[in-house]
Amino acid sequence: MPLTSDPACLLIDGGWTTAEDGRQRAIVNPFDASALALVAEASAVDADRAVRAARAAFDEGSWAHAPAARRAGVLTATADALQEHREELALLETLDTGKTLSESRADVDDATAVLRYYAAPSASDAGRTVETGRPDAISRVVYEPVGVCALITPWNYPLLQICWKLAPALVAGNTVVAKPSELTPMTTIRLFRLLQEQLEQAGAPSGTANLVLGGGAVGAALAEHPEVDLVSFTGGLATGRSVMRAAADTVKKVALELGGKNPNIVFADADLDAAVDFALTAAFLHSGQVCSAGSRLLLHRSLHADFTAELARRADLIRLGNGLEKGTETGPLVSAEHREKVERLLAGALAEGAVLRAGGGRPTEPELQAGFFLRPTVLDSCHAGMTVVREEVFGPVLTVELFDEEDEVVALANDTPYGLAGAVWTQDAGRGERVAARLRLGTVWINDYHPYVPQAEWGGFKQSGTGRELGPSGLREYQETKHIWRTVIPAAQHWFAG
Ligand code: NDP
Repeated sequence: MPLTSDPACLLIDGGWTTAEDGRQRAIVNPFDASALALVAEASAVDADRAVRAARAAFDEGSWAHAPAARRAGVLTATADALQEHREELALLETLDTGKTLSESRADVDDATAVLRYYAAPSASDAGRTVETGRPDAISRVVYEPVGVCALITPWNYPLLQICWKLAPALVAGNTVVAKPSELTPMTTIRLFRLLQEQLEQAGAPSGTANLVLGGGAVGAALAEHPEVDLVSFTGGLATGRSVMRAAADTVKKVALELGGKNPNIVFADADLDAAVDFALTAAFLHSGQVCSAGSRLLLHRSLHADFTAELARRADLIRLGNGLEKGTETGPLVSAEHREKVERLLAGALAEGAVLRAGGGRPTEPELQAGFFLRPTVLDSCHAGMTVVREEVFGPVLTVELFDEEDEVVALANDTPYGLAGAVWTQDAGRGERVAARLRLGTVWINDYHPYVPQAEWGGFKQSGTGRELGPSGLREYQETKHIWRTVIPAAQHWFAG
């Protein structure tokens, strides 16, 4: 794929523009480290222009107060446009992130589904009336948009993550400034081109949706900007903390979707074929670059020998390659720097006593040498004291720990600062429910791994984040709740005698 140049790819106040200082960034295809595109590299100055445009569009009022059906119509039309451009978007996502085309197509479909979910009439909840106990008074609770929302997304699911934020933010009547990861902005740019056409057709004010590209400094400029009312951030824990600190000065609303160190618990009575199969998917989908990756396998001791042997055998068979080619099962890591980070954690784990059962290094095939590949890796004999068990690796590394008792595995699974997601494998329905209830996680799968639907909330307990995306709570993040009390026939009460 030849290098394309798209310097005017910042969307500010309804116009496509270059960075104010003219800077650009080369976007790299992680499959072979080739340059994929040149895009604008924004600065804090561009972020400020975008926020001011979003502020003006919000304060002008016609979008915030538009009938919900009109805003929903923009989402529906954008969802239709995503489907019309499905192959183009999937191709771009694969070139940009390295994931397989089938994963990218699923991402386009999931992004479409979330736009449609928030466009449905049930999403435009007009509020409720409240019993006052007084026949002369009417009390009601209504939902209003928060204002200007900064939407900051990571590199692993670029199209999907921005749609999780954009759909509820816009349907609630907010205006937005989005900032994707500097590493993978391509589908977000394309999405905003499609969205902007729909916003124009709907007569939305020019600064309703804005897009700035660039690195952490641009994200930080948004998080601390006094005219931003809400920051919705998905990314790593350390960055999430700094976003929260930056937002504190002006007491912005903050929604954080952070990392995970997700337990995948297999009891002795599990369906073992399915449990092995899903242990691989949980850990190695998208080379483990998934916030909910099941990177900690907690295995009943009686299963150890057979289960780990089968796991290692199948991990070694996973076909790495070009995401564009049929037969590729998983792609590279996103960048050379990220692979080095994962390799450091891997080396540390081996030094701490982990036993290598599969993978453990870069592939040897000549066609994979230019890209940022790492073999799916299974580490046995791990324990909760190891760095590789405590820190989010965000790569194709699965650690195996053993347990004997139910109480013990619940304690092990919860022994982490994270609380995003995890799974329990057992054919005892009572045990499945019991353990699910005790896990301090935002999502628990019983006899499955990874499924989600837009109508169910997504988010983390503990340091995996604050707030929720998707479902009704995902909309509430972008709404203020207002109580309006009306006394129909006012009468003096003479509380004060004078
Ligand atoms: P980062 O935290 O590095 O970056 C996330 C976003 O924040 C990027 O757009 C990044 O820009 C931007 N950013 C960087 N520094 C700042 C700053 N100081 N202030 C504001 N924004 C900033 O995460 P990654 O992109 O590396 O993504 C991986 C992480 O995302 C993992 O921890 C993963 O678990 C988490 N994640 C969580 C999900 C969830 O639903 N809970 C879903 C998906 C991922 P740039 O990239 O340009 O530096």
